[in-house]
Amino acid sequence: MASDTLLVSGGRALRPDATVVEADVLVDRGDGRIVEIGPDLMTDRDADETLDASGGIVMPGLVNAHTHAAMTLLRGYADDKPLDAWLREDIWPAEAELTAEDVRAGTELGLVEMIRSGTTTFADMYFHVPEVVAAVDEAGMRARVGHGVVTVGKDDESARADVRESLDVAREYDGAADGRVRTAVMPHSLTTVDEPLLREAVAEAHEDGIPIHTHANETRDEVDPIVEERSERPLSYADDVGLLSDADFLAHGVHVDESEIELLAERGTAVVHCPASNMKLASGIAPVQALLDAGVTVALGTDGAASNNDLDLFDELRDAAMLGKIGADDASAVPAEAAVTMATEGGAAALSLPGGRVEVGAAADLAVVDFDAPHLAPAHDPVSHLAYAVRGSDVRHTVCDGRVLMRDREVLTLDEREVVETARQRAVDLVARAE
Ligand SMILES: [Zn+2]
Repeated sequence: MASDTLLVSGGRALRPDATVVEADVLVDRGDGRIVEIGPDLMTDRDADETLDASGGIVMPGLVNAHTHAAMTLLRGYADDKPLDAWLREDIWPAEAELTAEDVRAGTELGLVEMIRSGTTTFADMYFHVPEVVAAVDEAGMRARVGHGVVTVGKDDESARADVRESLDVAREYDGAADGRVRTAVMPHSLTTVDEPLLREAVAEAHEDGIPIHTHANETRDEVDPIVEERSERPLSYADDVGLLSDADFLAHGVHVDESEIELLAERGTAVVHCPASNMKLASGIAPVQALLDAGVTVALGTDGAASNNDLDLFDELRDAAMLGKIGADDASAVPAEAAVTMATEGGAAALSLPGGRVEVGAAADLAVVDFDAPHLAPAHDPVSHLAYAVRGSDVRHTVCDGRVLMRDREVLTLDEREVVETARQRAVDLVARAE
């Protein structure tokens, strides 16, 4: 019996086989693991801390497997443009003005938003990684973080410096925040990092056991030049530079052909599907059911708040299930259970991080979802609701690594009002500098 316990009592638990059972969940706060699941485990008085889950569903904390958290500062700054023009005309000029303090403020805003919508774990590709790590540490979340590398348009020296920084921070911060922070080396994409430097970065990272995270096959404009120049598909090129290991994970994978889906399945490389971002930037429809059928690990991501425009992963669940049907021209494609799995277990697997399952021995990363709201009545099938009807604002409590991050919708680890006010002010100043 654990000596330092958190009891999540009175609710129903979503088990890894997608069944929902009446059960308390008992957590050892000392090692952050689930120690027991079952009815009436103990009285509230016997536990060191309790969370009331009555009427609700205890599910794994959601995993946002691809985002740029600090981009919350650019939420709504530029919309309604294709990816290339949006990046070059609006996003990159604004990002050039970002200070370390801005990144800290924007990241904290993103973390508050994620905690409030049941996300416990995320992958972050951005700059000023030490600030991101400090924010994750304070917020109590779990993350795989890295410095995004772009070398095109840079002279050799600054291109190399960018690669070095990505490798250096990945080595320095792996295992930070009591092990809740892991790292990856993050070349921005296959077209924005030159081949010799990409090869070097991948080889060095893998030598040290550090995974690679990159954007891949996001738009046709990104795929076509590679096919023209190299007479091979982008993921064949990625494989050639050594990139497709079973610990690596790719964002988007929208325009992948059959040979590339097979390659991903063979290599064990995961894909992070970002349906809202793909719709908003008109990037295309990822063949999610085909990826799942081939045995590829698929996770879900919001991408940055500037292309979504929020970080509520329940929106992604619904978008993934719906867009997956349009993509497959089949209403039975990407069913509710598959969407829920992608948002939880799929995400944890893609990031090689603990969590994603409510079972004994698993990390106590949990979201307790209230089912009292009118839009969730009646509840014939709770899994259907989690995919199609629940909103992030229905999350009552959020727990990560055995620690309560939000109780009764109050975030305990960050000062929500202060975080929102600071981010607002910094966003106004940032945009003024960029214009
Ligand atoms: Zn992205």
